[in-house]
Amino acid sequence: MNATADVVVIGGGIMGASAAFRLAERGLKVTLVEKTFLAGGSTGKSSAIIRQHYSNEITARMALHSLRVFQNFAEIVGGECGFTRTGFVVLASADQREGLEANVELQRGIGIDTRVLSTEELREIAPGIADPESVVAAYEPESGYADPSATVNSFGEAARRHGATILLDTEVTGVQMRGDRVTGVATSRGEIAAGAVVNAAGPWGARVARLAGVELPIQPCRVQVAFFAPPPEDRPAPVVFADFPNVTYFRPETGGLTLVGSVDPAEANHHTDPDGYNERVDFDFIADMGTRLARRFPCMERGQSRGGYAAVYDITPDWHPVIDETPPGSGFFVAAGHSGHGFKLGPAVGLMLADFVTGQKTEHFDPSLFRFSRYAEGHPVRGRYEYSIAG
Ligand SMILES: Cc1cc2nc3c(=O)[nH]c(=O)nc-3n(C[C@H](O)[C@H](O)[C@H](O)COP(=O)(O)OP(=O)(O)OC[C@H]3O[C@@H](n4cnc5c(N)ncnc54)[C@H](O)[C@@H]3O)c2cc1C
Repeated sequence: MNATADVVVIGGGIMGASAAFRLAERGLKVTLVEKTFLAGGSTGKSSAIIRQHYSNEITARMALHSLRVFQNFAEIVGGECGFTRTGFVVLASADQREGLEANVELQRGIGIDTRVLSTEELREIAPGIADPESVVAAYEPESGYADPSATVNSFGEAARRHGATILLDTEVTGVQMRGDRVTGVATSRGEIAAGAVVNAAGPWGARVARLAGVELPIQPCRVQVAFFAPPPEDRPAPVVFADFPNVTYFRPETGGLTLVGSVDPAEANHHTDPDGYNERVDFDFIADMGTRLARRFPCMERGQSRGGYAAVYDITPDWHPVIDETPPGSGFFVAAGHSGHGFKLGPAVGLMLADFVTGQKTEHFDPSLFRFSRYAEGHPVRGRYEYSIAG
C-alpha cells in the first residue's frame, strides 16, 4: 500500500473517530489508521459518563457542546450512540459548598441546566442515600451515559460516508518529516503521504509522539471498574453519581447492575504498558468499591459482586489533555492525555482538531488552554474550585 491523504489520523478511539468525521465532512481526504479495531483502546472500556460539571469554563463549554451532539446523535452524526439520560448528581463534602456553588454558577452562566440541591431534594432524587446532610450536591437533569463502542463505530461510519478511509489492524510505525514538516506516516502495511498527521493514540499518545521526535508528558496508568448486583428488594437510585467524599463514581449498568469506579488521584501512580497489562479486576478493588458503594447506599450491603475489569487512562500532570500542533507549523497535531474524563468531550475535541488542521478558530472553546507549552511555562490547567480529579 502506497497511498496519499490530506490528513492521517492515528487512533480509532472517540478522539480519532470524531476528528476523522469532522475533517472528512469538510471535504478533506482523511485516512484513519487503527492498530486493532475501532474503540479497541480506552474508549471501548470507558464508563462513558456524560456530565457537564467542570470547574473551568472552556471544558464546561466543550462538555455542553458534546452533550448536544450525544442528544441529537442520529441527526448530527448518524447511527447510534446509546445515550441514556439518567440525570447526574455530584456530591462534595459540606465544607466545599462555596466551591460547588461557584462551579454551578459558572456552568449555569454558559447555559448548562444544573442546580444546587437542598438535602430534601437530594433525598427525593436519591431515595435511600445515606447521610444527605453531610454532603453538598448539584444535579444535572440532562446528563447520563452512552455506549462508547457504538459511538465510535457511528463516528467511523459517518467519516466513511464522507469519503474517509479507515484502516484497521494497521499500526503506524513511523512519522515521516521533511525538515520541520510532516510528509506522511509509515505503517505496518506501507506508507501514506500526508500534509497533516493527527496523534489521537490515547494511552499510546507519548509513544506515537516520539515517532515524530516529540516528548509528551502522558503516562498510561492502570485503572479498574467493578460491578454489583443489588438485593432483590432495593437498589441505588438510577442516576449517575460522582461521590467525591467517597472517592467513587457510579452509575446504572445493563442488567440492573451498578458500575463503580474510583476517582482517586493516586491512580496516576499505577504506570502500566497499554500493550500488556493485567486486564482482570483485583479482589481488593472489588471489596473496596463494594464497601464505598454501600456506605452511600446501605441497601448495597446486601448486594453481590459481578466482577469487573481493568483498563488504561492516559494521564498528564494536570489531568487535562494536550490539544496542539507540536511543534507549531509542523503539521503534527495531538489530542491525547484525556486523563480518564475524555469520552464526554470527544465530539468537541473532534471539532477542535478539524478547526486546528484547517486553520480555523474554535470560537467557544479555544484550544490554547490545552497547549503543550503550558507545562514548560508553569501554567497547568487549573479549575476555579476543584475537588479531586473532576476537572
Ligand atoms: C475505565 C475507564 C472509565 C472511563 N470513564 C469515563 C467516563 O465515565 N466519562 C468520560 O468522559 N471519560 C471516561 N473515561 C476516559 C475516556 O474513555 C478516554 O478519555 C477516551 O476514551 C480516550 O479516547 P482516545 O480516542 O483518546 O483513546 P483510545 O480510545 O485509547 O484510542 C486510541 C487508539 O489508538 C490506537 N493506536 C495506538 N497506537 C497506535 C499506532 N501506533 N498505530 C495505530 N493505532 C494506534 C489504539 O489501538 C487505540 O484504539 C474512562 C476511561 C476508562 C479507561
